[in-house]
Amino acid sequence: MGMFTGKKGMVLGVANDFSIAWAITRKLLDEGAEVGFTHLPGDKMERRVRKLAEPIGAKLITSCDVQKDEDVARVFDEAKETYGSLDFVLHSIAFAPLADLKCAFVDSSREGFKTAMDISVFSLAVVARHAARVMPDGGSILTLTYYGGEKVVPGYNMMGVCKAALDASVKYLAYDLGPKNIRVNAVSAGPVKTLAASAVGDFDLLSGLYVAVAPMQRNVTREEVGGAGMFMLSDLASGISGEILHVDCGYNVMGSPGRALEEA
Ligand code: NAD
Repeated sequence: MGMFTGKKGMVLGVANDFSIAWAITRKLLDEGAEVGFTHLPGDKMERRVRKLAEPIGAKLITSCDVQKDEDVARVFDEAKETYGSLDFVLHSIAFAPLADLKCAFVDSSREGFKTAMDISVFSLAVVARHAARVMPDGGSILTLTYYGGEKVVPGYNMMGVCKAALDASVKYLAYDLGPKNIRVNAVSAGPVKTLAASAVGDFDLLSGLYVAVAPMQRNVTREEVGGAGMFMLSDLASGISGEILHVDCGYNVMGSPGRALEEA
């Protein structure tokens, strides 16, 4: 008997097997969860997700662009038809136009900001609203955030501002849905090499910084982020809501470069 035996959930945000959403999914599957998936519209996206989801026997694989209310509503209607009700939902989604991600925040465009905030922040509220409809016995909703929303991480630019808004959204949604016994949390992951990460600044430079500065002198592994995500979605975390759980080898507690400074 796994921790998730008899539990059902939807995972939004698997792009390929490098995705953090997939790392969390694997841990959920290890614990006996039944998982449905969404993919971005388009044959290529669908193929990529089906390649991963079909071998594990997913009963629901459906398209969803979180910028469209009707897509999100349909996903949870389909989840109700397929599973009856849900116990957990993973939102592992972010996007900003490359030009806006690459430039200093001060120079970014209004249109780019609207798109980035819509997909990376507001979508959590829409997903939570519709997920709540199919969680009659309560449930757990998890999103993925990054430290660049708390402090300035040069190169993270517009996405840092989005993550700050996402962190606040987690807290307001935790308040809104608390009476329904629905928990809303975020895992704040250290750098993990994924499709989305490749769009952000110099990944190798950033991961090198974690090795130099983090108390544990290394980066997190995909599996560690997967495990922490599974924990937050599980009943072991039943008393936790509105929380931003840092899974970053301790990097966020540092107020100076520490050993990196001593060694310099
Ligand atoms: P990823 O590229 O594998 O996942 C991003 C996902 O967002 C993709 O599946 C993509 O299809 C989806 N997406 C984008 N626009 C969408 C839309 N309009 N509708 C629906 N889905 C859409 O990369 P990842 O690194 O696994 O990113 C997942 C989450 O983790 C993001 O929120 C990211 O900011 C966060 N995160 C990543 C890192 C890291 O180092 N990789 C660190 C901290 C937080």
